[in-house]
Formats: sequence, C-alpha cells, structure tokens
Amino acid sequence: MAFHVMIIPSMDCPSNCSYCWGVDKKSDLMKLEIIEEMVQWLKDFRDEPVTFTFHGGEPLLAGYEYYQKTLPLLAQELSHLNPAFAIQTNLWLMNSDLAQLFADYDIPIGSSLDGPPSINDHQRGDGYFEKTMQGYEIAREKGVQVSFISTFTSYSIKLKEEIFQFFLDNNLNLKLHPALPSLRSEDPDKWSISPEEYGDLLVYLLDQYLAHMGEIEIKNIDHLCKGVFVRRGVVCTYADCVGDTFAVGPDGGIYPCYRFVGMEEYLMGNVKDHPSMEELSRSPAWKKLHKWMELVDKECADCKYIKFCRGGCPYNALTIDKKTSKMEIDGVDHQCAAYKMIFKEITDRANKDFLSSSIPLMGGSKYKSKKASIMDIMLKSL
Ligand code: SF4
Ligand code: SF4
Repeated sequence: MAFHVMIIPSMDCPSNCSYCWGVDKKSDLMKLEIIEEMVQWLKDFRDEPVTFTFHGGEPLLAGYEYYQKTLPLLAQELSHLNPAFAIQTNLWLMNSDLAQLFADYDIPIGSSLDGPPSINDHQRGDGYFEKTMQGYEIAREKGVQVSFISTFTSYSIKLKEEIFQFFLDNNLNLKLHPALPSLRSEDPDKWSISPEEYGDLLVYLLDQYLAHMGEIEIKNIDHLCKGVFVRRGVVCTYADCVGDTFAVGPDGGIYPCYRFVGMEEYLMGNVKDHPSMEELSRSPAWKKLHKWMELVDKECADCKYIKFCRGGCPYNALTIDKKTSKMEIDGVDHQCAAYKMIFKEITDRANKDFLSSSIPLMGGSKYKSKKASIMDIMLKSL
C-alpha cells in the first residue's frame, strides 16, 4: 500500500482568490531543517512507496534553492521508499530554473484555472490568468506536464458551457472542484455551490465527455467511472484516506491532509519527534477521524455506492460548532447528494450499455451503436 505526504512549505499565497479558505498571510516559510527532520521521521516510518506533493498556500514561495536542496534530500535519503513527486501551484513564480528542476525529477504540476480570462479573473483576481499562463508556458517549454483544476462557484456554474468550451478549444484537460462553504469567512456560502448543483454539473460533464470522447480528458469523470467499475474509490475523496495521507505544515506539524493544516484540533504530531504510526494513532485528531469512519460505516450502510464512495471527504463533513467556534465533523461529506446523483447516472447508464451491447442486431452487426459509452470511459481509464 502506498502512502502520501503533502509538504506545505508556506501557507501564504501571492494571489487573493475570492473563495479561498486556506491562506495565512503571516505564514513562515518551511526551513530546510524541517525537511531533514522529515527524512529522519520517514526513514523507518513505513516500508511502502511514498508520493510527496508540494502544496500550499503557494509552494513556489519557497524558491529555487529550497527545491534544489529538498528534492535530492528526499529522493536519495528515502530511495528505499521509491519516492514520487507532484506539486500544486498557481505557477506565478515559475521560472526556467525551477521548471528544469521539476523536469529533472519528473514532477507533474497541478494548477488552477477557472475558465477564460473574464471568468477566471472575476473570481481569482485581475491579472491572475495572464500570470498563470506565463508560468504554464515556461513549464511546458521544459517538457513538464501541467494539468488544471477549475473551481466552479455560485458565479461560474451559470457559465459551465463557456468554461467547458474554453478547456476543449485550448486542448486543456479538465479537473473540477466545487467551491466549498468557506468555514473561515463571515459569509461562508457566498461562493459555494449546493450538492444538487454539483451533481447536475457532473452529469452535464459526463454528457459532454461522451459527446467529445478523445478530444478532452475530464479527470473527475474518469475517476468516478473507474471507481464504479473496480468497485473501490481510486482518488482520496472516495477512499479511506485516514492513515495513508499526511500533511506537514511549515513548522513540521503533522496533519491528516493539507486541508487541515493550521487547525490545532487536527494536529497529530511533529516531524521533529519522529512519531511512529502507533504514536500518531494515539492523537485525538486521529481518533476523531476514525470515529468519522465508523460513522460512515453506520450512516452509509444502506447506500448502494458505499464501496466506491466511502462517505466522501472528511474535510467536507466539517461545520462550525456555534458554541465552541471549532470546526467539528457533523456527518458524512456534505456533497453526498451530488455523489448519489452521479453514481446513479453512471451505474444506470453502464447497465443499459451492457444490455444493449449484448443484443446482436438483426442485420448481423454485433453492436447496436458505435457512440461512446460509459464502458469506454471505464475501460479507457484502466
Ligand atoms: S481529507 Fe479529503 S482531500 Fe484530504 S486526503 Fe482525505 S479525502 Fe482527500
Ligand atoms: S453517496 Fe452519500 S450515503 Fe452513499 S456512501 Fe457516499 S456519502 Fe455515503
């Protein structure tokens, strides 16, 4: 079993996206000493392949020298874990030295773009699109693979056709993300979309994917279809992430995922103490998340999709407790209704495809139709 460590060199970010909930403008930068401690921590922590994802805030704030020292340290000192790397960045601070380094270590980049400049900059700030595209060109010149995540908000969801067309016309693969209620803002629902809207969006994109098969990749649809086919989640949202995913904040604090970094009640330990799995599992944060998994087993027991949904993401299950002002998990992922909509659509259509493909036509042709089907997506992503 592989495990995943997200490294958060800074919680700060030079951008100012309207719906972002994860930035701390006063954040320190991670010192190299924390990476050295991380290496000592992981040397005997687990004997399985590891993926490191640099995340933030904005991880490129750490600068070239940080990556020039960090990457060989992790790659060489932890070579027995066969480390792979990835980074999630807005690309503004990309330069040719960094791009070359990422190319040398075969590091794929995930970035964010919410659609054409007018839509993107409306929700991410003036000039965002141009700065990201400049970084994108630099990375591409060095042969680094870049894919984009598009966040759909209460504003942009009304423009979904235009956004899809933008990704299609520009040969960009699409991964989407629903804007969540910002738990740290005064108007938490301003940008968020409802589970029903998210479900409709996924079904819309499924239709578009089938209509444009071979012209674009929509990662979420690939993952959802593959999950249904193999009967288990293939990305963290639909699998049990607890215990296999960790995030290390700028000060070495260990959390269950980048989404929890900075939330005191979800701090599990610190890399400086080199905690074992057993020690981490004794932390109140770990216990809280295991309680959530037990709650999923109970609340989702009768759901047809539990095997490849697993209650969704624990972070999406958080709400603010009005009495304590703390964020507490209050059920399964709040996007449950969206997951039910898309899983129903995929399973119904897959069953229909299966039935119609096994009925030979009178004229001797073996299959009724050559139109792309759910089975094509399921088999394509295997
Ligand atoms: S908390 Fe959510 S985003 Fe983080 S690893 Fe788990 S499922 Fe993925
Ligand atoms: S779709 Fe909803 S009820 Fe079903 S497993 Fe997922 S979160 Fe649970």
